Amino acid sequence: MTGRISGTTRLLGLIGDPVAHSLSPAMHNAALATLGEDYCYVPFPVASDRLATAVAGLAVIGVQGFNVTIPHKQAILPLLQHVDSRAAAVGAVNTVYRLPEGGWAGTNTDIDGFLHPLISLGLKGIPTLVLGSGGAARAVIQGCLEGGLQPLRVAGRSPQKLAELQKTWPQIQVLPWVELDPYLAQTQLLINTTPIGMKAGSNAHSPTASPLSREQLRLLPTGAIVYDLIYVPDPTPLLRMAAELGHTPITGLEMLVQQGAKALSLWLGGKPVPIAVMRQAAQQQLAQS
Ligand code: NAP
Repeated sequence: MTGRISGTTRLLGLIGDPVAHSLSPAMHNAALATLGEDYCYVPFPVASDRLATAVAGLAVIGVQGFNVTIPHKQAILPLLQHVDSRAAAVGAVNTVYRLPEGGWAGTNTDIDGFLHPLISLGLKGIPTLVLGSGGAARAVIQGCLEGGLQPLRVAGRSPQKLAELQKTWPQIQVLPWVELDPYLAQTQLLINTTPIGMKAGSNAHSPTASPLSREQLRLLPTGAIVYDLIYVPDPTPLLRMAAELGHTPITGLEMLVQQGAKALSLWLGGKPVPIAVMRQAAQQQLAQS
């Protein structure tokens, strides 16, 4: 946002339920202001039973593109005219943009956002274990496979969700949650995609909770990397314990910033976007909340 909304200002936004605590408006509007782009990014609360009406309405009022968050990431797929192959494999869309011929196209920039910190570290070909089998896990699995992070194991508590993952990605190994311990000694990259340890939001857990205990984290080899998708609190109990044990922690904030940067660049026709500005805006918003 340039600080002045006029008759020419174009809209970007976010649909979800809830959206009130999202960091995306702060991140995107700070970047748009820095770029001097005449756009404004607005959060739109949309209930599940109004999703189709809302998506049609966004088209009618000329919204240029939008992000999608819980609970619409899967439900929006049939409402889009095009979904790219990565988002289709994941079964979830987090970014929607206009097609030149009309209609909406969906992609999943969570995959790129997740991979970014790992690519920056030059990681490839290391034994990886993903905790959780929900929506974020699916983007993470796709990212790991694209980034060459194999062998790849996924531990979850729902046999049905694990079976679905195995069907989509036959090359991964799925494990019942209670059987993950023997694999920890072989895991050089551990990724938490469960909400355990998250401070606020609809999936709130105890702020002292951790998906793995200190004793389990001790089983990881020297030099292991522990990546938590959660970014509130910072550090999460999992990352605090991992750092205390000498492992390398990665927080989910960078994933959030990078998925946003990728989406904004897409909406602006491939233009580079000021990632440092987006990161700082997200951090400031977090500090105030
Ligand atoms: P989701 O679809 O609800 O999936 C959560 C997963 O965690 C499910 O597999 C669930 O198992 C599992 N789980 C929950 N409690 C558990 C427990 N006590 N023991 C074992 N497994 C447990 O949620 P999501 O959309 O994937 O999001 C997950 C987390 O990732 C959230 O905290 C979200 O904020 C974070 N996230 C961060 C970013 C980012 O940009 N940093 C992006 C996306 C998501 P069941 O299937 O058995 O319920």
